[in-house]
Amino acid sequence: MARKIVETLYCDACAKKGLEVVGTEKLTIMGREWDMCLEHAERFMNQLAGALDPTEVALSA
Ligand SMILES: [Zn+2]
Repeated sequence: MARKIVETLYCDACAKKGLEVVGTEKLTIMGREWDMCLEHAERFMNQLAGALDPTEVALSA
């Protein structure tokens, strides 16, 4: 019997709010991984970028 198992990844940040939103982005830091929807990925990326280089957020805002 041929069997195909499809795994759906959901956004971890949305899941905390009880929402099932497909995670299309992956955030990996020191071996830990989070799946993110595009909106959350952008939000966390901006926070990280701002922490590392505050001028970058000022330019993209
Ligand atoms: Zn999300």
